[in-house]
Amino acid sequence: MRLGLAANRLHHQNQDAALFRWLRACEAGIRELKLGLHAIGRTHDAIATAGMLVDYAGLRRYPYGREGGLMKLVAEVVGLEGAERSLDGAIYLIDPVDPSSIFPEATALKRQCVIHGKPFLSTVASARDWIEMERIHAGFAPDPGADRFHALETQTLALIAHDAMKPQMLAFAAEHFDALSRFAHRVATGTTGQRLNELAWSLGWPHDRLWAERYQSGPMGGDAQIADRVLERRCQRVVFFEDPHVARQHEADIQLLERAVTTVTDDAVCTTSPVVARRWLQAVALRAGRGA
Ligand code: PGA
Repeated sequence: MRLGLAANRLHHQNQDAALFRWLRACEAGIRELKLGLHAIGRTHDAIATAGMLVDYAGLRRYPYGREGGLMKLVAEVVGLEGAERSLDGAIYLIDPVDPSSIFPEATALKRQCVIHGKPFLSTVASARDWIEMERIHAGFAPDPGADRFHALETQTLALIAHDAMKPQMLAFAAEHFDALSRFAHRVATGTTGQRLNELAWSLGWPHDRLWAERYQSGPMGGDAQIADRVLERRCQRVVFFEDPHVARQHEADIQLLERAVTTVTDDAVCTTSPVVARRWLQAVALRAGRGA
């Protein structure tokens, strides 16, 4: 497996920066998985200067952002000739107030991950959670350092799906109803929440209780309401099935929610693809079965 790797300046400018918090937690897992990392110039150089991933053959240097490094990663997420030029997803640790985080190549990186059903990991928590998920799928023993990502009973989950993705959200929720019901609390945008509650009642959830607390509909500000909850650290996981193929009237609100998640980078996990969301809950079940 191979991921693109980039981090905005804030996230690699000192030893305690987000990139290094992730590497300290996950370097052993990266080596176990033999994960290829295509790291753009400054991010790569910061890792080398920090003395991390020393002699790790999977780490490859890409050009600086201004020389097209991030643009090359976008093409590799789509896929180019030869296995070496194809990525399974991307880690892009975003500082929401860094202007480069909204350059077209940054937006395209996420969009192509969503289109191709590949993980787009924009927070330390997302990248940590993903490494543990892949470790579990690969048969490794649970890492106690990742326990908190699996303590679903202590967390709030947000579920959002654009119209074209609502059938996929309902199928996902039906398939994993018991696991999703383990969360202490579920929240959703208006219409998604209505549909999910109807599904839950049809599956035997008590009729006098909501399965998901409903906020406003997305276009009416529901994303912003959920973003506030994320910022207050009262929502630890967002499963957002976006429709990348249509112009979205509330694009700013969608971006706002994404930026809120990256603002609390150590605390919030965001999953944007049904494929990755299923893989996550399969890992949750496998890990519990291994005694974690
Ligand atoms: P909805 O909002 O659940 O109310 O449809 C989701 C969205 O369109 O952002």
